[in-house]
Amino acid sequence: MRVYLSLGSNLGDRLYHLESALKQLGAHERIHWTACSGCYETSPVGSLDQPVFLNVAAEIETDLTPLELLNVAKEIETGLGRTETWRWGPRVVDIDIILCGSTVISSDRLTVPHPEFRRRAFVLQPLAEIAPDVVDPVTGKTVAELAAGTQAEGQVRRLHDVVVD
Ligand code: ADP
Ligand code: MG
Repeated sequence: MRVYLSLGSNLGDRLYHLESALKQLGAHERIHWTACSGCYETSPVGSLDQPVFLNVAAEIETDLTPLELLNVAKEIETGLGRTETWRWGPRVVDIDIILCGSTVISSDRLTVPHPEFRRRAFVLQPLAEIAPDVVDPVTGKTVAELAAGTQAEGQVRRLHDVVVD
């Protein structure tokens, strides 16, 4: 299944945290990453009194179930030193599952598509770079359409390409 992830960091060496997370995802025997957006600097949303974020979107191919993938993402977050702060608080790395093909999931641990992604410029603008024509199975809108609707909100600025060897 083709899956889109959103990764963010706003603590410490943010780019290192994102690149390490991408590298670890790619090193998993059941995950191949196939595309990655550039790196975007984005102002915090929700809880404003915290450092600015770096965000990237990644496309992967995996035969893991969405829940298995969530567990892998949580392990990588913990391994990179993420500790609990508060909801929307600062984090070393956050890995969110945005879309899993056309699968729709609503369970205690996992909601797919990600419940907030349609109004988050910091998710949609990087994602639109690698997957503009991908369709949200809930609204039927493409990522490009959703991204166009968010441009006025929040500040999202593309910095540079992401290179993971
Ligand atoms: P945030 O909402 O700021 O990303 P966390 O990364 O701490 O917060 O996630 C909290 C919980 O959200 C996770 O433990 C996970 O069970 C749940 N969750 C629900 N849907 C998703 C999703 N699509 N991607 C990632 N986590 C999700
Ligand atoms: Mg998260």
